[in-house]
Amino acid sequence: MVAPAGPGPAAPAVRLVLVEDNAQLAASIAEGLLDDGYVVDVIGTAAGGIERGLRRDLDLMILDLGLPDRDGTEVLRELRAAAVHVPVLVLTARDAVDSRVAALDAGADDYLVKPFAFAELVARIGALTRRASGPRWVTTTELPLVMRDDLVVEAGDKTVALSPREYALLACLVRRRGEVVTRSEILREAFGYDFDPGTNVIDVHLTHLRKKLVGFPVAIETVRGAGIRLVVSA
Ligand code: CA
Repeated sequence: MVAPAGPGPAAPAVRLVLVEDNAQLAASIAEGLLDDGYVVDVIGTAAGGIERGLRRDLDLMILDLGLPDRDGTEVLRELRAAAVHVPVLVLTARDAVDSRVAALDAGADDYLVKPFAFAELVARIGALTRRASGPRWVTTTELPLVMRDDLVVEAGDKTVALSPREYALLACLVRRRGEVVTRSEILREAFGYDFDPGTNVIDVHLTHLRKKLVGFPVAIETVRGAGIRLVVSA
């Protein structure tokens, strides 16, 4: 295995799939990532992306939304419905806020709007793959909540399945329970970003998490101008 840069020679290769029908763009991205030590497969159709994702052996999928056979959001929906939790970074030429939110709603972890700087793509891939392999253990001894390592949260006889991002967000709040956690702390601790991607990605995941925790004995409170915190609500 040759990995001169990026993950480093001792790290196992990170397996990426790029689902992109623009052959020229796909080739230039794949070439850059290969130079950074990643193993990259390029797939040109939504059907191919779904088939590849269902094999469950990927570390990351980079997914274009405008594909020739089906929309990229349908790839996401199918994979998430089949409980494939691979981190997905969406590439979209559409600058409408709606399509980005639709992609996040369908289960994307993050998105980049074309055209983007290659360095930014690499930074986001690094953040998503670090987070995915990070420790998931979290103690909930003082909370009426059990966070299972299969991403299911239990409280009494209630259970809910979270996405990896929602789970990481909740785990971050649980570790810091009662304290106000700032936006940059959430980005760093739950999302693996050491920079602010300047998107609404936290807010979208937070909205989903809050909806899923309705009826649970905890709530996520917004502290205006400061951040968010986990409170016991019953
Ligand atoms: Ca396209």
